[in-house]
Amino acid sequence: MLRFGLWRSINARKDGMLCLACAEWRLRRGLMRRDFIDAPVNRKQALKCPRLAQRLEKIVPRKRRFVGVR
Ligand SMILES: [Zn+2]
Repeated sequence: MLRFGLWRSINARKDGMLCLACAEWRLRRGLMRRDFIDAPVNRKQALKCPRLAQRLEKIVPRKRRFVGVR
């Protein structure tokens, strides 16, 4: 399960399902951990689905602004 806002950005309907490939195609980027809600269903499903497990492990840090020495 994806975060609600993200889900709505790729899916006009509130409900429904998309496979990982279709969701990523619509997003034009790969999914990563912060895209998913912290629900047991995701971790359970990841046990059966290596492709999901891989995405739940993927953490991409937000870009931080460079803080220079003044
Ligand atoms: Zn699909």
